[in-house]
Amino acid sequence: MTIGVLCLQGAFAEHEARLKELGAQAAELRSAEDLQQPLDGLILPGGESTTMGKLLRDLDMLQPVQEKICSGMPVFGTCAGLLLLAEQIENDTRRHLATMSITASRNAYGRQLGSFFTQASFAGNGDIPMTFIRAPYITQVGDGVEVLAVVEGKIVAARQDNQLVTAFHPELNGDTTVHAYFLQMVSDSMQAKSQNCSRKQSRGNSHAPAHTFVCQRNFFIWLMLACSVAISLLARLVTAVSLTLHSLMVCMPLVTPMVLPRIIISAILDWEESIMVFTPEDSSLDHLANALTSSGLPPCLRSS
Ligand code: GLN
Repeated sequence: MTIGVLCLQGAFAEHEARLKELGAQAAELRSAEDLQQPLDGLILPGGESTTMGKLLRDLDMLQPVQEKICSGMPVFGTCAGLLLLAEQIENDTRRHLATMSITASRNAYGRQLGSFFTQASFAGNGDIPMTFIRAPYITQVGDGVEVLAVVEGKIVAARQDNQLVTAFHPELNGDTTVHAYFLQMVSDSMQAKSQNCSRKQSRGNSHAPAHTFVCQRNFFIWLMLACSVAISLLARLVTAVSLTLHSLMVCMPLVTPMVLPRIIISAILDWEESIMVFTPEDSSLDHLANALTSSGLPPCLRSS
């Protein structure tokens, strides 16, 4: 699991140390390019919210960070980080990421006496050490915001879906309760994402039979189309044949009397011709008689 830690200003090194203690990787985010690496969560450390907000803008990091948060990436803002995430800041006209439905009061404990240490319950997990340094607190929460810690009647820790904020600095004490809570959020989000992916994949798989069904349906449509074309061609052919036969039948009485006499006449002519071939001409017969007369045959055999 890799958590991007905004390292523009403030107490980022302490966050990195807590993450390492819990076995998570920390990726330092100093430029817009750093935001392009694969990250599972984000930490916005304590420091000076106006300075960090300005640097985020100047380095073109504000919008990409905003987009990551809005797309569900778990984010943990401590102190100035809380102010970066707050939709409203009571005593400041500036807004930064403004992704969480909370109203915060900046330097809410006063500038001089604003730093103190206390122990209080966090997310029902028992008391944990809390260090406040010129800290804000939350004056109002919107829908879907869960209050996780209250000190002297003031909200000092809250969560809204993938966004966690504390007005105190949990990274400054040895206690890792809050970081462990955040890493649990990250791991839940990673699990939800992988479930989403497998659901999408299985939905993709279930699309396969649907696709096959569409292909089969298309095939049957084409087959039916081809069959109907073939049937219509066949019908036309049958019609044409039957029309031809019909017209032949109609014309037969007209044709027959003309054809039959011709067949009969030509047959007669052929027969006549063949008769002529085997019939010797008169001159040939005379020649034969002359030949017989000049030969020495007995008179009884001679023609008269
Ligand atoms: N007072 C600072 C601000 O307004 C926050 C202080 C802190 O992060 N410890 O940004």
